[in-house]
Amino acid sequence: MRLSRGIVCECAGASACPDGAANGTCATQPGGYCFATVEEVLDDNGLVVLERTAGCLPPDESGFMQCKSSQVPHLHPKVIKCCESDLCNRRLQPRLPAPPADVTESPGVRPPPPPAPAALVAAALCVALVAFLAAAWLLCRRRRRAGKRPPSPPAPARPEISSGSGSGLPLLVQRTVAKQIQMVESIGKGRYGEVWLARWRGERVAVKVFFTTEEASWFRETEIYQTVLMRHENILGFIAADIKGTGSWTQMLLITDYHENGSLHDYLQTVVLDSHGLVAMAYSIASGLAHLHMDIFGTKGKPAIAHRDIKSKNILVKRNGQCAIADFGLAVRYVAERNEVDIAPNTRVGTRRYMAPEVLDERLDVTNFEAFKMADMYSFGLVLWEMCRRCAAGGRAVAAEAYALPYHDRVPPDPSFEDMHAAVVARGERPAVPARWRAAEPLATLAGAMAECWHANPPVRLTALRVKKTLARYTAEPPAKLV
Ligand code: ADP
Ligand code: MG
Repeated sequence: MRLSRGIVCECAGASACPDGAANGTCATQPGGYCFATVEEVLDDNGLVVLERTAGCLPPDESGFMQCKSSQVPHLHPKVIKCCESDLCNRRLQPRLPAPPADVTESPGVRPPPPPAPAALVAAALCVALVAFLAAAWLLCRRRRRAGKRPPSPPAPARPEISSGSGSGLPLLVQRTVAKQIQMVESIGKGRYGEVWLARWRGERVAVKVFFTTEEASWFRETEIYQTVLMRHENILGFIAADIKGTGSWTQMLLITDYHENGSLHDYLQTVVLDSHGLVAMAYSIASGLAHLHMDIFGTKGKPAIAHRDIKSKNILVKRNGQCAIADFGLAVRYVAERNEVDIAPNTRVGTRRYMAPEVLDERLDVTNFEAFKMADMYSFGLVLWEMCRRCAAGGRAVAAEAYALPYHDRVPPDPSFEDMHAAVVARGERPAVPARWRAAEPLATLAGAMAECWHANPPVRLTALRVKKTLARYTAEPPAKLV
């Protein structure tokens, strides 16, 4: 049905907005179209990135033809979609054709090919190539570190892979790295493995050694880390994964960046944050979570990922005061092309203390991916609460509260499912917000944000992107404004 008036469309992108367009909108003539496109463009560094454009198209033949243009395949990596009601293009998500290969590389468990005479020569070449790649990688990182390092204090060796795709090192190199690891000391234990500080060619790295019964967790976590575009400064940096063993035993390793401050849970026991430290941390976790939750369309796209075990023990504190999200053994992915929630094959469930009410009463709709993200946001709300307690803001030597786990005063240690259900669902309890938080920024804003994150009704909760945007105001504020 054609409207007798024009329609209003979202406009976004370099050339799509008319001069002086208000609020990112444009208006068509009667019978016009709204459109949205996605295309591959080269950025300033010559890398291929996806760009979305949206705007208005005229009612005539040229508008109509443009709307049909994406049906001409292979000409240009660009897809356009059109629609014909007010602001309808906000919901349009044009996608470039799916890549021929899967979005992930499988972890390093491919069986080796049978040896043949010609294969021996190839193998020798491969070994040389591995050595070369590993050396080049190391050299590259040393140079980068040298370039980036602040004058004082000197930053420690920090492994960082500059792979743009986020899928990490080639599998063969990962195996080589795993072979060259020297374990130093055990630094942490979780439910699924033991984490060690180790050395790799003089660099400090963290190695998670999975319990033999936890192969599914190792596989899942490795798979998630190798998801395309997974790399982000607020997601633990993946280096390599390997599985080795004979018939009777297997050892499964996951090698990542090492963060000497340990988990946020451990860090908050002893450290009191100022306003800036608090905001920087909260902002960095929101950024990592927003990246994880984000679906990036296109041939080099990233599926949306939900963590399902957000808690202060699964967040690491970096030396620059930002955080990195870790422990992806429970994560699930949403593959938009197939409209599928990619449920982990293992039966792990999250940590009871941090479980959202809809997880506790098993009403979470597992076929709806958004539901997993909303459950993550509930848990993130509890983490914000843990952090705010340790912030001494509000002027005149206000004391921070002692570190405490969420619901420390409402449920016994190591609460059962029933304990949590009674407190969070039946009695609708939430962590107490001290009066002092309401009196000073940024605590007042964070107190409001956490309450919106742990709302009983999942769709009402803030998204990670919203929390990030709310906090951006404070990260930009000059120091004098914050106490
Ligand atoms: P699990 O799946 O067994 O819970 P995690 O990945 O959560 O394992 O790690 C367990 C603990 O080990 C964390 O809570 C943290 O204290 C420590 N840890 C894990 N990774 C690192 C790292 N990269 N650097 C420093 N400490 C780490
Ligand atoms: Mg953990």
